[in-house]
Parts: sequence; structure tokens; C-alpha cells
Amino acid sequence: MTAFIPYGRQDINAADIQSVIEVLQSDWLTQGSATVRFEQAVAEYCGAKYAIAVSSATAALHIACLALGLGEHDYLWTSPNTFVASANCGLYCGAKVDFVDIDPNTYNLSIDQLEQKLSKAAQLRCLPKVLVPVHFAGQSCEMEKILSLSQQYGFKVIEDASHAIGGRYQNKAIGCCEFSDLTVFSFHPVKIITTGEGGMVLTNRDDLYEKLIRLRSHGITRNPDLMQGEVHGAWYYQQLELGFNYRMTDIQAALGASQIQRLSEFVTRRRFLAQRYNHLLQNLPLTLPYQNIDTESSWHLYVIRLNLDKISTTHCQVFEQLREAGIGVNLHYIPVHTHPYYQNLGFCWGDFPKSEMYYESAISIPLYYGLKEKEQDRIVASLQGILR
Ligand SMILES: *Cc1c(COP(=O)(O)O)cnc(C)c1O
Repeated sequence: MTAFIPYGRQDINAADIQSVIEVLQSDWLTQGSATVRFEQAVAEYCGAKYAIAVSSATAALHIACLALGLGEHDYLWTSPNTFVASANCGLYCGAKVDFVDIDPNTYNLSIDQLEQKLSKAAQLRCLPKVLVPVHFAGQSCEMEKILSLSQQYGFKVIEDASHAIGGRYQNKAIGCCEFSDLTVFSFHPVKIITTGEGGMVLTNRDDLYEKLIRLRSHGITRNPDLMQGEVHGAWYYQQLELGFNYRMTDIQAALGASQIQRLSEFVTRRRFLAQRYNHLLQNLPLTLPYQNIDTESSWHLYVIRLNLDKISTTHCQVFEQLREAGIGVNLHYIPVHTHPYYQNLGFCWGDFPKSEMYYESAISIPLYYGLKEKEQDRIVASLQGILR
């Protein structure tokens, strides 16, 4: 039996391992100098002023929303074609969540839909406070248009770039925050670089940086300038707001600091494999990933759409047959509004038809740095056999 090929996986080399060992042999395991080193490396790579490492992208999204003041009676809007965390962060803050349907070509949230929804919401006086555009599969959303709408309608923007570190938009690194208030990355093992679990928030704004630093660690400050009343002594700290323990350990950050040095190599390989898929799959009854000209994807995912009117098998059958052939296909994403939890909030099937239509024919096929060309050929051959 041939080996199982997962849809995504990490790549850890000797330098990555050595970097972690050095922390394990040191005196300091929790957030410390390795975390600072990792933050600086990511900020520099992306061209952002600040980077704040946290325990996950979910934590990053949560404190990003809080830093922008999202709360009860506010709205957060995001794409239905995302992981639930992009929406849940709004609910954590007591806000209401709503969705903007997707562009059927890029699978990112549609700018046309966004414009229409904003214009309606302005009349009804229920404009969003925060928009979370998700750079699906690593391809940037149309951030220039989003920025201009955010200025027109007065909402804030958090880029969910969990898929997209190493990607570019208008020749700038995703994460530069030129078109948004904040950008969030994930370092889960299936993403582009990993820290085991981990996330990061980037921003160019001094005020948001100060808030994020506090929210990451219980709302506590040790900076006398920020304290109220008298400073009791060298031991003294004050809790100024309700924060969390969302810190990253130095063990994780050491892995991240080593991995980010390999980021360009990772993305180059992913791009090569994606182009190879484009070529090898071009004559099959599939819709292949569409790329806007001003984006360079990090290629977190390679999503194929089955042209169901041209084949005799169903979406489920193709998916199952690929899994039976030892190919770890996946489906990104179940439209968030269709989960029972969101249906209980009042959403239903039919609310965001483009994302639901996408869901009926999408399959993510394996794509990761260590995927061999031979394995890719096996995936293509399986698809050819199943779709014939
Ligand atoms: C992975 C992912 C997250 C959550 O990341 P964690 O680091 O696992 O919390 C959020 N949004 C998107 C789009 C993701 O893919």
C-alpha cells in the first residue's frame, strides 16, 4: 500500500530543532528574548512597525477586536468562506456577526457584495465597526478597495492573513498593514510557517500596540507612566483592564524565528507546485485557482472545483475515492453561517448562496513544502482516473 499523502504538513529541519533546543537548555521558557526575536523578524519581513506574538491566531483575532473597541451593539462582518475563528472573535466580544458573500472567482469576500451591503446598512444605521477580510488560500483580498470603503463608511479592518504570510499584494508583503489597522497570522502546523500553535498581530499604530501588549497578559502593566496613583515599589504592577494569558512561549517562538528564515523558500516551492498542478490538471473537468494580477499568493491551499455538469460522479464520491486512494483531501470551508451554532443565531442555508455553491464542488488537494513531484503525479493520476 502506498503512503498516505496529507493535504498539508509542516517542514522541520535541523536548524529549527537546534533553535528550540537552545531555548530548552536556557533559563527562560516562557515569553522572553526568543519571542522578541521572532516578533522583530516577522515585523521586518512584512514591513510593519509592530508585531505581537500570541498563543494562536484565534487569540490574535480576539485581542485585535478588543483593541479596536469592538463590543456589545457593534457588528463584525467577515467572509462565510473561512475557519470559524474569523467570526467567533466578534462573538467573544459580545458583538453581532454578519457575513459578506464571496467572489465566485477568488473565493474571497466580494467587493460588490460588500458595497451593496454597506449602502443598505448605512440606511438602516447598522454599519459594521470591524471588517475581517480573509486572504483565502493565501491570495490577498482587494485591500485598496476595502481601505477606501472603510474610509467612506468608518469601519476598522483586521486582515485575517492566517493563510497568507509570505504572500504579496500590489508588490507589498501581506502584513505591512498599509490597507488595514491590524493583520493576523496563524502558525498552526498546516499553515505556511509553524510554531506548533501560535499566532501574531501586526500593526503600525502605537495606540493599538500598547493595548495589544496589555491584553496579551491579563491587562497588566509594569510601566509607571501608565499607572494610576502612587507606584509602591520595584515589585509593583497594575491591572488596568481585563486581559488574558495569550502569551507565546519562547520554545514556540524559537521555532518560529527559525522557520521565518525559511519562509521565502517555503513559498517558492509552494508556488512551483501550484503552477505544476495548473499545468497537469488543465484538461480535466475542473475549475483551477484564479489569481488576480496584483496578488502573489503564498499558496496555503490549492482548491479545485469539480465541473459537476461534466462528470458522472458526485462531489462526495470524488472526495471519498481520493481519500480511499490515500490522498488526504479536505474541504475549505463549510460556510460558517451554516454551522448549527450560527443557525441558532438566526442564519440559514441560502443566506450566502455563492459560498454555498462553492462548498458544493470545492476540494483542497495536497500542497505543502515537502510534497514530492512523484506524489503530485500520483494525485493527478488518481484524479484523472476518478473523473474519467
Ligand atoms: C487557521 C485559521 C485560523 C485560526 O488559527 P489558530 O492559530 O489555529 O487559532 C483563523 N482563521 C483562518 C482563516 C485560519 O485558516
